[in-house]
Amino acid sequence: MADAKVEILINGDKALRSWFVRRFLKAETQTEWEEDQMAYDKVLWRTIWSLQVLNKIKNLVWRACRNLLPSKENLVRQTIIKDPTCDRCKHEPESALHALWNCSELDVVWEEEPFQHCRRQHTFVDFKELLSWLITKDHNMELFATSVWLIWTQRNQMRLSQPCLSVHQIPSSTKERVAEFVVTQPAPAIIRPDLTLLRAMWRPPIPDVVKMNCNRAIFKEQKKSGIGAVIRDSNGLVMASMSKLLPQQYTPMEIEAMAAS
Ligand SMILES: [Zn+2]
Repeated sequence: MADAKVEILINGDKALRSWFVRRFLKAETQTEWEEDQMAYDKVLWRTIWSLQVLNKIKNLVWRACRNLLPSKENLVRQTIIKDPTCDRCKHEPESALHALWNCSELDVVWEEEPFQHCRRQHTFVDFKELLSWLITKDHNMELFATSVWLIWTQRNQMRLSQPCLSVHQIPSSTKERVAEFVVTQPAPAIIRPDLTLLRAMWRPPIPDVVKMNCNRAIFKEQKKSGIGAVIRDSNGLVMASMSKLLPQQYTPMEIEAMAAS
């Protein structure tokens, strides 16, 4: 598999190249990469199933992560409809991430912290990346999952012209449902999966997007610095990589700025 990779190594001396390989290319073979992804997904699914919400809510969140919801973008992909435009904002294509999180018409649902801050400050490539990020930040996942379920349910009811909540009613309904679940269910022994793996693991980008990771090294004794970068596709395969030894000891911030540029 390594033969299929294009590698551009610029001025990489032995020590730097060794560091670079250790840092970035640990999961170099397809098998290792697939094993990493399976381990990552396993922790994510276990976290979803451990949420203290109704099973139908866990199921919806899991399907959104697997991109299995019949969003308009998915229906276009399956040639069932032709126009992927979101019915709420009538502006953006409706992916699962857009329908449940990004749509401007959902501002009122996600206006409370910490979700409002997260929504303004961070961009996610898909729903799975959003969920992983929220989990690793220890946000209230029961509140998040219940809101997501109400948003999707209300979206479907509107499409079918059925009676439904307004988006303004979703926040209060979410809180009522979360509180109701706590009262009506026997107190469970909550065993949250170890999230270390989720916090540490690299994830591939979505199809047609590449992801670049940069890192730095400082060799104090030699008064030198090193930068490295690797670009991978959505299958985790390395498209290009580079490492460079700099004849000066820069600060970590300076090197990171250089690597990113
Ligand atoms: Zn929209």
